[in-house]
Amino acid sequence: MLLGEPETVWAIIGRINAMGAWSVFGWQPTGYPLWAFWALELAVITFGAMKGVLLKLGQSVNIYCEDCRRWSEEVFTSPPLKPVEDGEALKSALEAGDFSALEPLYPQPEDDPIETEDPGAAFTRLLVMACPQCENLHVLDVTAFSVDGDGDKAEELIVDNLLVQSRVTHDLQHRFAGYVEPEPEKKGWFAKPSSK
Ligand SMILES: [Zn+2]
Repeated sequence: MLLGEPETVWAIIGRINAMGAWSVFGWQPTGYPLWAFWALELAVITFGAMKGVLLKLGQSVNIYCEDCRRWSEEVFTSPPLKPVEDGEALKSALEAGDFSALEPLYPQPEDDPIETEDPGAAFTRLLVMACPQCENLHVLDVTAFSVDGDGDKAEELIVDNLLVQSRVTHDLQHRFAGYVEPEPEKKGWFAKPSSK
């Protein structure tokens, strides 16, 4: 499983290093505690590698903020967006900090509703997980969904746990604020809800 998800493993290791996991609560573990800590880190890395697999099963796994000792929480989920044309290009652009690369995915009010259940349907979702306490840990997932001829859904992680600045999350929350996702059989999901 580790070998199957090398990108995830290295992403997790990089994140652990960046967050300074080796200085825990101002304490530098040595000797026996260090070995115990190694075992824990290995478990975290393995758990991280499993995340991609679990996501394919439709489950979501939280990321741990080691600064705050809190689990991250889902703070933003997009409505269904247009399918990604070129996953590699999108991934490269987002990794380079170019979030305008998401613009082509955003449906416009005049567009037909994005189909999510019909055979042949394809759509994208954005998900942001964030530490509930600090502004330092925001991670973005971009997942492509497709529905085959039998109506079975498949999903592919295009961008997995990309560390983003909190303003990216706030921009997304602002952009989609007030929009509701209607029941699948209803049209016009992108319309604003009627004002009370
Ligand atoms: Zn935090």
